[in-house]
Amino acid sequence: MECDKCGDHAVLHAAYSGLHLCEDHLCRTVEKRLRRRVREDGLVPDDATPEDPDTWVIGLSGGKDSVVLTSILHDVFERDPRIELVALSIHEGIEGYRDKSLEACEELTEDLGIRHEVVSYAEEFDVRMDDVVEKDPEGMAACAYCGVFRRDVLSRYAEELGADKLLTGHNLDDEAETALMNFFEGDVEQMAQHFDASLGPFETGSDGDAPTERTREKQEHHVPRAKPLRDVPEKEIALYARFRDLPAHITECPHAEEAYRGEVQQLMLGLEENHPGTRHSIMAGYEKLAALAADAYGGDDADAEFGECDSCGAPTARDLCRKCNLLDALEAV
Ligand code: SF4
Ligand SMILES: [Zn+2]
Ligand SMILES: [Zn+2]
Repeated sequence: MECDKCGDHAVLHAAYSGLHLCEDHLCRTVEKRLRRRVREDGLVPDDATPEDPDTWVIGLSGGKDSVVLTSILHDVFERDPRIELVALSIHEGIEGYRDKSLEACEELTEDLGIRHEVVSYAEEFDVRMDDVVEKDPEGMAACAYCGVFRRDVLSRYAEELGADKLLTGHNLDDEAETALMNFFEGDVEQMAQHFDASLGPFETGSDGDAPTERTREKQEHHVPRAKPLRDVPEKEIALYARFRDLPAHITECPHAEEAYRGEVQQLMLGLEENHPGTRHSIMAGYEKLAALAADAYGGDDADAEFGECDSCGAPTARDLCRKCNLLDALEAV
């Protein structure tokens, strides 16, 4: 097979586009799609200046997605003083897993010369995920606890680091799965929240080719998120990490068991194989519907009466935030 762009040996046949691509052209298209997403989502604000740059905190886990995101963003903005990048890694306390991926994070950020901060559940909450799984006071999957703790750490540190935006490495497969899960669960309010928290553009692009004309509602209580790799399929990100020789850690977390997401993933990959382009069309439709849902429901900040958690001060609609509830339950075991 030959690359459709240059005739070199092709390493990928992207069935959804019909293109055969060589190593170099595959990597270039990944970079191009990230740059286009940054532009279409209006991530670089008009008022960012070298004196007052927009600070982007990147959630860097050491897995292929966040490593590729960090590397490409660094290449794109290295000479643009309007954007400042900071990498933030979380140590959940998972024996034999996170130590290795943190090594990858350190190697990468040292190579690139990016500021790197590491925070741990042990220091923040005095818990380790390995113990949480043992105790399991709520009878939930590990990821349900871990996700609550992670959101808390990410938003607190994003604020502390002066983040204007929090960027994560979610890819096309991740986002299409989330979209399908929201459909299957009939959760239209969740779609609205998804749009305002991480999907909708900050400003509509000047080239007018953004999928929706609606911009996201400003979130008063949360640092806005963005996912610049969400147009790129997972497999292509993995190939990019390999061809660019990036230090990515590939072992799976031993506690990973989001059973429902796994089922949805299998379904989606089966559809994609028989009907190439399914992931893209799911997202194209979903973004439009999520924008309409956001119009109707106004996102998460609009209706919720946000107060402060009695225990930690985090924004919450209840007396105690979810994280403090879980920590209390763990304490009681
Ligand atoms: S797979 Fe689940 S438990 Fe493991 S790090 Fe991710 S969210 Fe946490
Ligand atoms: Zn080529
Ligand atoms: Zn709290």
